[in-house]
Amino acid sequence: MSTSGAGVPLAGLTAGELAERFARGETTAVEVTGAALDRIRATDDLLHAFLTVTDEQALADARAVDEARRRGEPLGPLAGAPLALKDVLVTKGTRTTAGSRILEEFRPPYDATVVARLRRAGVIVVGKTNMDEFAMGSSTENSGFGPTRNPWDPTRVPGGSSGGSAAAVAAGQATLGIGTDTGGSIRQPASLCGIVGVKPTYGLVSRYGLIAFASSLDQVGPLARDVRGAATLLEAIAGHDPRDSTSIPEVPADLTSGLERGVEGMRIGRVAELFPSEGTEPGVLARVNEAVDRLERLGARVEDCSLPSFEYALSAYYLIAPAEASSNLARYDGVRWGLRVKDATDVVDMMQRTRENGFGAEVKRRIMLGTYALSAGYYDAYYGQAQRVRTLVLRDLERAFERFDLLVGPTTPTVAFPLGARVDDPLSMYLSDVFTVPVNLAGNAAVSVPAGLSEGLPVGLQLIAPALGEATMLRAAWAFEQDLGFAERPREIIVDDRVQIAPNGDSPGAIKEVRP
Ligand code: GLN
Repeated sequence: MSTSGAGVPLAGLTAGELAERFARGETTAVEVTGAALDRIRATDDLLHAFLTVTDEQALADARAVDEARRRGEPLGPLAGAPLALKDVLVTKGTRTTAGSRILEEFRPPYDATVVARLRRAGVIVVGKTNMDEFAMGSSTENSGFGPTRNPWDPTRVPGGSSGGSAAAVAAGQATLGIGTDTGGSIRQPASLCGIVGVKPTYGLVSRYGLIAFASSLDQVGPLARDVRGAATLLEAIAGHDPRDSTSIPEVPADLTSGLERGVEGMRIGRVAELFPSEGTEPGVLARVNEAVDRLERLGARVEDCSLPSFEYALSAYYLIAPAEASSNLARYDGVRWGLRVKDATDVVDMMQRTRENGFGAEVKRRIMLGTYALSAGYYDAYYGQAQRVRTLVLRDLERAFERFDLLVGPTTPTVAFPLGARVDDPLSMYLSDVFTVPVNLAGNAAVSVPAGLSEGLPVGLQLIAPALGEATMLRAAWAFEQDLGFAERPREIIVDDRVQIAPNGDSPGAIKEVRP
């Protein structure tokens, strides 16, 4: 296995560290890509972060980057960096499943805009990552292909729905990751895996080629080991796209040059509704309170505030998201692409049995909830009411941002929970997103950044910004990250001569050697 000296796998460096090594000629894209692929081979039997590893394409792309570098062509800051791509973005000719059996053999005829932009930036896509089916979930256990495990403790979930991408970055299988966030699916797994994840402003990143879950909420965003990596990756994928009608025409192009300017004088609101008296683990509260103190010490002016509508955001989200999903998922009918059951008696039978066999339990639950919420007679009581709550959340946030530059709270109420703990209790699973959904309803931006450990597991700090406030938000996240100096990584365990990763839980197989 290729490591980078102090036990850190080469693909586990930050994007900035990697860029420095490229600049000094110390390594090549082919070497780094090879290291990422080795790392995946050594650890993914356990973690199952990937659904498809695109090794040949990745090595070919890496050779092209190395040749371009040799020719002295100008390359972007991420050229040669290995990336784990959530399997909900379509890739030309490469299987794209959205975590669903109904798309098990789907090979899209085109690349999503985000994928095209990554390729243009010289980023090396090493594979497509596991996820909750159609991004519906908070643990990656709703995948049609089995769960992903958390690198910090393989008896626990990595969060979801972008759990595969988050686990891959945390385990050093890739330098960068791409996820999607409809109700928290980038921030929540970033928090549970101890990395940085950004939910961009709605419309900042193109949704063209993103398999739709809830179109008015879905956003693509970056996962990275550090804030600078996430900011650089966001810069690479953001920008107007005429193929997405909700794409913002003019977006700020520069998210990195002001990163180091600090938080002096920044006004930060501590949101009372994100610190409820029940339901949040004491260890999470402790880290987040320390984080707020740290921001204050760094020169921010922190004050309490209240956004009363946040209390109703989760209920509104779980009407609006399923309503949109029930409509978006009508296209999986066995006719045009994806699964089609054989031996059907007629077309209706074929469609029914294709959907019965192709969709998992949570997806069916959402389709039923959403169809009910939209049905005549209930539309106004459920969907209409939820839309009114959505407007209240938006107004509460607008008012708060008259007083504050940023808002702060925890990303999730708990650290990573054990596999299986919430699968039979959808409501408790939905509660994982209670702190993240308001931002999706309002369409503004937020980031989760590591704030330390609680009982050996990562805790995430959430910073919330107004729409297009990414530069300020990332600046605060960077200042916090630098001052905290969070350097913990999952501990490695060698099992049967393979690198496995497992600190807290029982390890499968015989442990031979534990690395620091
Ligand atoms: N966990 C939430 C859900 O299940 C959010 C998912 C997401 O952001 N894609 O809907």
